[in-house]
Amino acid sequence: MILQAEGAVARLVDRQAGGLVDDQSLAVDEQYAVAMHVKRLATPCPFAPEPAAMRRVTLFIAASIAVPAQAQVCAGAAASMASDGRVYGHLPYGDAAPSELVPAPAGFALNACLVRRDMIPDLERLLAAAQGDPAVMGQLRGLSCHRSIIRQASVFCRDHPDASADPDATRAISVAPPGHSEHSTGYAIDFAVRPANGCPDAEACMAATPAARWLVANAPRFGFELSFPGGNRQNVKWEPWHWRWVGTSAAAPGAARARFLFAKARDQFPADPAVDRVVTIPSITPITYVTVPPWVAPKPPKKRRR
Ligand SMILES: [Zn+2]
Repeated sequence: MILQAEGAVARLVDRQAGGLVDDQSLAVDEQYAVAMHVKRLATPCPFAPEPAAMRRVTLFIAASIAVPAQAQVCAGAAASMASDGRVYGHLPYGDAAPSELVPAPAGFALNACLVRRDMIPDLERLLAAAQGDPAVMGQLRGLSCHRSIIRQASVFCRDHPDASADPDATRAISVAPPGHSEHSTGYAIDFAVRPANGCPDAEACMAATPAARWLVANAPRFGFELSFPGGNRQNVKWEPWHWRWVGTSAAAPGAARARFLFAKARDQFPADPAVDRVVTIPSITPITYVTVPPWVAPKPPKKRRR
């Protein structure tokens, strides 16, 4: 277990030094694992290894994490990465495996819209409920769904506000830097309302529409929660259009994987409205998940019988 964590730390540092890589979601998982491991090392345990070995591992991990890491943001521009992997406040997320992505229900997408397969049943139920409720006074549509890290880079790195002293930091208030968007997981959707009635897509005025109010009142029933509520400590703009899927309960099909990816966000920067209360990270992201590929739903380890 300790060796696993050491390997995870080494790989994590390598990846951070290398900037964008294809399998960043592994790095995300590893970051959780390392954080968990450090927490566990700090907790007295009657079955702990001998103290000298523990100290060596603790020092190794502490030294590795203390190295200031940087993330590649746009061409030639790097940003400092916090010890928890955040860049400009945005947590790190990897790309969903293409085989996990499927088209959203017919008639939903304003453009192309791919989402995780696990989300589809809840999304279909949500859209049907919204369509059947006259209070919505319009139609919920998909403005933006899965965005690859490469796509996110093109979105983030264009149209910089040149007058700003730090254009990337300014941009990051409303757009996540590449490798740090919930959209790359395939579990996030930006909703739009049609007819728009004069409110541009992805603007705060959407919150006043009956459809957006319906989402606030009903989306959690279908496993969706608002990632960036007003005044969030993550320093991300209030986004009443951006909802992530975590399943209606931890036991719902596919929910474990989504909740695993969003564990840190849910624990430290709670959604509002949220699907349910998050207990703690250690109870849902055990270190045994370190080597699990990001597109495989984590399963509890089998108990060996003697
Ligand atoms: Zn969004």
